[in-house]
Amino acid sequence: MYRNSFKTRSFRPRNDGGRRSFSQNIHPSKFINKASSVNETAVFKPEHTFRDFNIDEQLKLAITKMGYETPTPIQDKAIPHILKNTDVIGIANTGTGKTAAFLIPLIDKVLRNRKEQVMIIAPTRELAIQIEGELIKFARDLKIYSVCCVGGMSIGHQIRELRYFNNFIIGTPGRLRDLIDNKKIFLSEYRTIVLDEADRMLDMGFVNEMRFIMAGMPKERHTLFFSATVSSEIEKLIKEFLSQPIRISVKNRDTSANVEQDVVKIRRGTDKVDVLHGLLNKEGFSKVLIFGRTKHGVEKLSKILVGKGFKAESIHGNKNHVKRQQALRLFKNNHVQILVATDVAARGLDIADVSHVINFDLPATYDDYVHRIGRTGRANMVGKALTFIVDNV
Ligand code: AMP
Repeated sequence: MYRNSFKTRSFRPRNDGGRRSFSQNIHPSKFINKASSVNETAVFKPEHTFRDFNIDEQLKLAITKMGYETPTPIQDKAIPHILKNTDVIGIANTGTGKTAAFLIPLIDKVLRNRKEQVMIIAPTRELAIQIEGELIKFARDLKIYSVCCVGGMSIGHQIRELRYFNNFIIGTPGRLRDLIDNKKIFLSEYRTIVLDEADRMLDMGFVNEMRFIMAGMPKERHTLFFSATVSSEIEKLIKEFLSQPIRISVKNRDTSANVEQDVVKIRRGTDKVDVLHGLLNKEGFSKVLIFGRTKHGVEKLSKILVGKGFKAESIHGNKNHVKRQQALRLFKNNHVQILVATDVAARGLDIADVSHVINFDLPATYDDYVHRIGRTGRANMVGKALTFIVDNV
């Protein structure tokens, strides 16, 4: 049943019926790239060590406990400015250590003034939860309090948590706005704000929520703005939200440079699922992240793969939060080989050792493509990305 309906959907000619064909602007050659081996890449020499930073000794201990030996480029460049209360624009993608780049100096800020309240806004609940997870690891013994306010989870519980004092509030734009409207959060109390993955928030249609929150914040504030890309719209937001910011870009070493990228040509009439099946049985396909276009397609594909005997899970917007977290955990901990995901659900996720990213359906934009393949080749490892292209001739 599943298989048939899926097949029909997959092989509908893409530019049928005068509709704008999906991702027609991306030339297939952009999906091919020989990875520059890790050794070819110049090794980054940080200017600072964590010991050099003028931060609390207990925090330094927590950093060591986390196993972080040297700062990543974004940490090396951003932490000194953030410690000086300067507004910072960080042009960095996931996997660069950007979370710790803002968490370390902001935890220090809170340790210096226990009344300090910081708001962190992230586009997806997964990313928000990931940020809080890292904060908790750093701040375990430091008596720092936080609350995570994301959609898809009980608002009642969040309201109860908000009755207590919190140093950090981490949330997604929609839920934060609801809580502000309901007078459970008072923006005037927050003098430090982080906008993480601002470009994603823009793409996801949260621009009004971003503007609403920034307008309610005190004018005298500390603003940190992170984005993987800088479009003209992003520049506009930067002008609106930040004051005399320092701009730091660590994008030069593009994540995609250490990802071996190739296309898999599918002849018309061939079942994409059969091709996928063949690949997944090959050696080395140990931890595979597969991208599909729609929530429905993703769910169906994951069920088909389970039916074929693979250990697969899925994440997409039709799954409730608990199920998404569960699927993610199973994949992260290597209990399943395959995770099938939509772009939105997989945004910002930090999963170690993904052996392959497979674009079962084409991404809508090249930017989405870069985000997708950025899930592999993390931490200076060479990753592999394969993009299915249906041959129309
Ligand atoms: P992020 O870009 O914040 O999602 O971080 C990507 C990954 O890098 C996370 O798993 C972090 O735990 C890890 N990480 C961050 N900073 C460091 C560091 N200085 N040394 C080693 N790993 C790090």
